[in-house]
Amino acid sequence: MSNAETTSDDLPAYQVRISQRAKRMQLKISPLGEVEVVLPKRVSPKHVASFVTQHQTWIQQTQKKMAALYPPEELLPGTLNFAATQQQWQLEYLEGIRPRVAEIEGTLKVYSQDDEAARKALQRWLNRRADEILVPWLREVSDEIGLTFQRAVIRAQKSRWGSCSSSGTISLNRALLFMPPQSVRYLFIHELCHTREMNHSPRYWALVERYMPNYLQHEQVLNKGIRSVPRWALTI
Ligand SMILES: [Zn+2]
Repeated sequence: MSNAETTSDDLPAYQVRISQRAKRMQLKISPLGEVEVVLPKRVSPKHVASFVTQHQTWIQQTQKKMAALYPPEELLPGTLNFAATQQQWQLEYLEGIRPRVAEIEGTLKVYSQDDEAARKALQRWLNRRADEILVPWLREVSDEIGLTFQRAVIRAQKSRWGSCSSSGTISLNRALLFMPPQSVRYLFIHELCHTREMNHSPRYWALVERYMPNYLQHEQVLNKGIRSVPRWALTI
């Protein structure tokens, strides 16, 4: 957006995601301002460019709003706080030929030769922690409520907390570690209920409500919560 060569006639860069479930084309703007077009399977991709053109003003306004909501922050955090597990760390950045993160009594020592390598090492560490913490936790909730899934994978996603495929694979956003435990539990229940109902029909929501009567409250926490996730954790 700050590119001086961009004129108002240029289409913004966008990615297309084909959706089995979507009924019509949708636009999504991530906290980082990236544009995603959700394309229903039955709609031809040739309609995408004109759809983006029609909504160009809205895209630009939303990107500006996002930039204001997510002020630029330091690339490398000084502290790290997982609300999900109530764990906290101080971070220390040190010289090291092989980028890596070592955890020593509440301190994360990040070894690298430059900032970019340090950030990547920290992101890999976050992926590992998400895998160790979120996947067994999802399994526990699955056993508890009796809804099973095939496989769980950790993703770095900017605009979704999770998803469930028709084959029963549940994707979890690693940034869930920054959300309160009850809201993480809600997301698990949300995705597990999709193994029964691959939609957001009244029947689906009734199922969610059965396992979590106050689910709406957590839906709101997650909707707003993406703003409190450190930027480095949302970036791939
Ligand atoms: Zn859903």
